[in-house]
Amino acid sequence: MKAAVLYGENDLRYQEVETPHALPGEVVIEVKACGICTTDVKILSGESTPRNLPTILGHEVAGLVHEVGAGVKELTTGQRVAVYPIASCGECFFCRRGRHSLCLHEFGLAHGADGGFAEYVRIPKTLVDLGGILPIKNSLSMELAAMTEPLSCCLSAFRSAGVAKGDWIAIIGAGPMGLLHLLTAEAQGARTIVIDVIPERLDKARELGAEKVIDAGKTDPVQAVRSITEIGADLVIAALGSTEVMEKYLPMVRNAGVFNIFGGAPKGSRLTIDPRWLHYGEIILTGTFGSSLPDFKQALRLISTGKAPVEKIISHRVSLDKLLDAVQQTREHNLLKAVVLI
Ligand SMILES: [Zn+2]
Ligand SMILES: [Zn+2]
Repeated sequence: MKAAVLYGENDLRYQEVETPHALPGEVVIEVKACGICTTDVKILSGESTPRNLPTILGHEVAGLVHEVGAGVKELTTGQRVAVYPIASCGECFFCRRGRHSLCLHEFGLAHGADGGFAEYVRIPKTLVDLGGILPIKNSLSMELAAMTEPLSCCLSAFRSAGVAKGDWIAIIGAGPMGLLHLLTAEAQGARTIVIDVIPERLDKARELGAEKVIDAGKTDPVQAVRSITEIGADLVIAALGSTEVMEKYLPMVRNAGVFNIFGGAPKGSRLTIDPRWLHYGEIILTGTFGSSLPDFKQALRLISTGKAPVEKIISHRVSLDKLLDAVQQTREHNLLKAVVLI
């Protein structure tokens, strides 16, 4: 089969590799769509390290069940599916508390096992047993199904913050994840403020229904958020990797509110925090990454029912051999969200 194999920093080779086969308990999926995630961009730029090399990236997978290993009962070949990428054990301390992304034995697609930037992907038994392969409706396109994983990460952030209807959510960064947070907030009846410095991204946020948008190049966003919300935002999502920006924007959150460092910052970066602010404000400073299987199922429901119009986030569709080019374009902010169609 054809695959985009990662050998190291900026070294991605579109090449012929052996087609995987399903061992007992495993399933092979014929990949139809696989989203390009910021994580993939970071790994390719050398900002983040993959677990093993060479490897195949891509964890936002939708496709057709191609081969079902012995003992797998619920799935049949030809079925249209979306795939939850984290093969968590289901039994450890964290899994028992529903914190699948923190599983002690966690591995997954593009993270120990080969991912979806290939014609076929083998789904490990642990992930099949977990129920991570979810059938999708015929009416749902593969590219939309591939958006389930990134949306589920936003739902995870909202769940952990305990967002309620009418809450003010301040989203810093109107990139693909920031905009998916915006759709998540809207689906949950929360009120939204989106902050960025790129006018086109702010226009996009407005078009997607953001209640307020703030151009951080023109207005002081902390003051603006505090004046809109009167006491500060209930939840602040830092959907970017700049610790300088995060640090400056910490006071956007209200007392007893949640500040979520959602974007991965570069290795070695540091944040300076006034402990008095944390203590007397009873601020919850946290982070989330990945999602749990229930978040993934909820994301699929929101997409299938049109409650999260994720099609508005997809800006480019590319073929597998153009993956590196699409990553480069993403890095330079020339495109918002690309999905590889195979
Ligand atoms: Zn992702
Ligand atoms: Zn576990």
